[in-house]
Amino acid sequence: ATLADLDAAVSSCFACPRLVAWREEVARTRRAAFRDQEYWGRPVPGFGVADARLAILGLAPAAHGGNRTGRIFTGDRSGDVLFAALHRAGLANQPTSVWRDDGLALRDTRIFAAVRCAPPDNKPTPGERDACAPWLHREVALIKPTLRVVVALGAFAWAAWWPAMSAVYGRRPPVPRPAFGHAARWSGEGVPTLLGCYHVSQQNTFTGRLTPAMLDDVFATAKHLAGL
Ligand code: SF4
Repeated sequence: ATLADLDAAVSSCFACPRLVAWREEVARTRRAAFRDQEYWGRPVPGFGVADARLAILGLAPAAHGGNRTGRIFTGDRSGDVLFAALHRAGLANQPTSVWRDDGLALRDTRIFAAVRCAPPDNKPTPGERDACAPWLHREVALIKPTLRVVVALGAFAWAAWWPAMSAVYGRRPPVPRPAFGHAARWSGEGVPTLLGCYHVSQQNTFTGRLTPAMLDDVFATAKHLAGL
């Protein structure tokens, strides 16, 4: 299988009844506000290159971001902050990400989420998290040959990495598991280095908890660790 096969397969997943209902409900009720666009309203696949050295792991698509545009972190404020930082770091060809065919291309980077459907209040249930984990594991397995660094945006993504690492690399997570924190780092032999970063949510960026300079530091570290 290729990443394109995986993207197509995940886009038609219906495994979580609550999330299927929510993503379709949001698309139905909000379609009028975005009349000239085709509201995606489906699971959102990963985005980026197949030979990524760097992966950015988020929580889940936003109801009116990825769930609307069909591309992860695209069309919302979180994405504005993230892609501006990736552009400054030389990992994206443009600083904005507004629609799924806007010409954006990443370099050495793949972005994906631990849960592929937009959840109400951005909070998937543990059952939904576990149901979606195999999609992440399959995607990580496909980029494993080049993958060196995983940037986890927030504690949910950080926690989702350990089962992915077990499934893909056959490595047991450390006990106790290292705590998430901004700029927290964990390295193990033969597995990508995990780097923590506060999530690019408005809650963090509007309050100054996460600044552009902090993001620049994380991506500079990530690039260095990835040999870029
Ligand atoms: Fe499928 Fe994941 Fe969406 Fe659940 S959250 S329906 S497992 S793509």
